[in-house]
Amino acid sequence: MRNQITEALKNQNADYIEIRMDESSSSRIQYRGRDLEDIGRSTGSGGNVRALVNGGWGFISFNDAHNLKDKVDLAIKQARLVGNEKSNIAHMDPIQDIVEAHIDKNPLNIPLEDKKKLLDEYVEAIWSTPKIQTSTISYSDSQKKVIFANSEGSYIEQSRVDVTSRINAVAREGSDVQQYGISIGSIGDYSVIEGLHAQVKECAEKAVQMLSAPKVKGGQYTVVLDPILAGVFTHEAFGHLSESDFVYENDQMREIMVLGRKFGKPILNIVDGGAVPGYRGSYKYDDEGIPSTKTYLIKEGVLTGRLHSRETAAKMGEQPTGNARAISYSHQPIVRMSNTYIEPGSTTFEEMISGIKEGVYAKNWYGGMTSMEMFTFSAGETYMIRDGKIAELLRPVVLSGNVFSTLQNIDAIGNDLDMNQGGGCGKGGQSPLPVSNGSPHIRINDCLVGGA
Ligand SMILES: [Zn+2]
Repeated sequence: MRNQITEALKNQNADYIEIRMDESSSSRIQYRGRDLEDIGRSTGSGGNVRALVNGGWGFISFNDAHNLKDKVDLAIKQARLVGNEKSNIAHMDPIQDIVEAHIDKNPLNIPLEDKKKLLDEYVEAIWSTPKIQTSTISYSDSQKKVIFANSEGSYIEQSRVDVTSRINAVAREGSDVQQYGISIGSIGDYSVIEGLHAQVKECAEKAVQMLSAPKVKGGQYTVVLDPILAGVFTHEAFGHLSESDFVYENDQMREIMVLGRKFGKPILNIVDGGAVPGYRGSYKYDDEGIPSTKTYLIKEGVLTGRLHSRETAAKMGEQPTGNARAISYSHQPIVRMSNTYIEPGSTTFEEMISGIKEGVYAKNWYGGMTSMEMFTFSAGETYMIRDGKIAELLRPVVLSGNVFSTLQNIDAIGNDLDMNQGGGCGKGGQSPLPVSNGSPHIRINDCLVGGA
């Protein structure tokens, strides 16, 4: 295959060409209530050619890798049709490398029946709780090998193994419905799925407890976010604004996302990095064969970086960061996050809540949306904070505001960083892309809190 690929890239009349080939196998299990809705294994393979001519890209994807040279020709022809300027991508020295998958407990060595048996136990753990109306449990794992080669002489093989699961319990009393869920994931370690019986049972119990919890009195509060909700906030509300394709194409955002501008207090550090090891967003090279990095988006409260592909780096006169990613061979790489998190500070959780007379402790994540700098997020679990202590359970709240003023209002950062490894990111029709996000506990002043 390697010869075929390097031959196909030789002596072509284009500014740049790359070939990327995937080979993957995956398994999935899905329950709705007690019913097993889907169980199975699948395998897939395919590839693509991306060519750059006069600033225009051509892209051809395929399942059958025969006649690669013809596919390269086609991609070049397509690129020639749209190109109308000078090609401009950041310089990169060629790389040759083979990267093995990081594996602790390989899900591919576990029979599908054993996975099902474990999930059956989780289904029963939920349904043994009274007032449960329904539940959903999904599980998937995948193994993927990606070959990347380009006309500059790079040839990289990378393998990875992914595991994710989402478990959700729904309780009901009359017309009142409450739910609680957890997302779990890892890069190459099935054991994160095992032994969750107590946690799963707790999901069901929390959903039921919320049925009798009061609603919050809406208003401005000092709010403490747990690592899950703070991590999702960091990814959704801020991280996407750091993706340079978005910044480059959006005049309003370019005026806001000015490097050197103060975005928060000096305690605030926000990082994105595929080079940070051991998480679902970790990788050695992105889908343009660029080495992953660790990028400070915000350092000591100041906007210091953003995420790039080769093209956005060149167009904005900045260094590539290794953030061009594609969910599969049938998609082009676009600028994406990897592992995005707020770096830990020195405040303990007790110190953080000790001075709060009346505040809100918002945990877990249920859903939300962002529109430019505005966000609305639903917490999955909420408590009042009274006189410096965690007080009564509330119905889950909705937090909303402007991401930039919210970042400015973060006045305490915990020492207890934790990462969300479940779920994935969606952008430009490519979902779910494996990413992680996280944060320690953080405290936000003057946050708008509403009932769900
Ligand atoms: Zn996202």
